[in-house]
Amino acid sequence: MTIEQQTDAAWVMARCDELATHSSRPDGIERVYLSHEHRHVNALAAEWMAEADLDTWQDAAANQCGRRGEPHLPALLLGSHLDTVPGAGRYDGILGVLVAIVVARRLRHTELPFALEVVAFGDEEGTRFGTTLLGSRALAGTWQPEWAELTDASGLTLREAMSDFGLDVDRVGEAARAPGSLVGYLEAHIEQGPLLEEADRALGVVTSIAGARRLFVSITGEARHCATPYDRRRDALLGASAAITAIERIARAARSFATVGRIRVEPDAVNVVPGFAEFSLDLRDATDEARDATLDAIRSELELICATRGLTLELRETHAAPAVHCAPALRDAVGRGIRSTADGAPMELFSVAGHDAMAVAALTDVAMLFVRCEDGISHHRDEAVTEADVAVAIDALEMAVLAVADAHRG
Ligand SMILES: [Zn+2]
Repeated sequence: MTIEQQTDAAWVMARCDELATHSSRPDGIERVYLSHEHRHVNALAAEWMAEADLDTWQDAAANQCGRRGEPHLPALLLGSHLDTVPGAGRYDGILGVLVAIVVARRLRHTELPFALEVVAFGDEEGTRFGTTLLGSRALAGTWQPEWAELTDASGLTLREAMSDFGLDVDRVGEAARAPGSLVGYLEAHIEQGPLLEEADRALGVVTSIAGARRLFVSITGEARHCATPYDRRRDALLGASAAITAIERIARAARSFATVGRIRVEPDAVNVVPGFAEFSLDLRDATDEARDATLDAIRSELELICATRGLTLELRETHAAPAVHCAPALRDAVGRGIRSTADGAPMELFSVAGHDAMAVAALTDVAMLFVRCEDGISHHRDEAVTEADVAVAIDALEMAVLAVADAHRG
């Protein structure tokens, strides 16, 4: 590593450690939207943005922003988020913000054909109000007015929390950027999966961000005394067990990601054959077509299982988001960035997890750079990246910005 690389990567690692101390709990990291900790990390990010020669402001949705460039120029936006889940690690989101700040600092004497902006989103995880991507959706102009009445665990509404933070929820629209005001959005983020590590690669370029479909599957049989002979039972929980096992088998074969994370049984008694079972299903894949094909196969198999057992099946969808495809030109720029480092030809992968880039894609082209994390662990205190990987990530993102500038001039 050169001295500059070493210094910049070490700076990022030290700032990640520093931000990790801004937590609402002593036994781990938790930093939610519109909290005291949010205010503190925004102030720190603003300081570091100013050191990178960016003009700073906090927008109407409590996103911390910094910009350099003539006011009339459209901006290339770099960023990620500073909020965390409970019991978080110190890199998810945070790393992308700090890498963006360092890249802006490195490019402070470089003339670019667009303005350069860094944004630290205030809410990506949705931990406090149960709705994700609040910060990036405000910037993208897709904030929904009814969110003002969402409540946190203590019963406080988003409207009240905003007001306590010194903001007015009825003015969140002011955070929305005009469609023509951006060149695109680049986000660096830890992979949150093991593929880069398995391939012995530091960096990856994201092809698409999976859109999830979430359903509740309910299976109805008949509740009976536990003395009922087997051939007279219509056991809803046994039907659900067979269904969940089949879901794993089908999704594995299709390379989709299916997760059953919640189950409920009625009457929920130790000596009664369950008459009803309901479980959640979260399904993701690189494209909507692949995901929907897996769901069709699952549905057919579940119908068969239920018919065989004399059970009634019902699927109720609660959420569906389309996959977001990273823009080819920006993907190329990120690929060129990676190729310029020792990491070589860029490894392509899709993101199973959601990111701010998904929300920003409603407004402008997006692309993402993934950074290897140890053992694929994320949303956990053991989340880890190496300083050497951070150094190449900074180089790659800097080169990606220069590649976007080349394309913009050409
Ligand atoms: Zn994240």
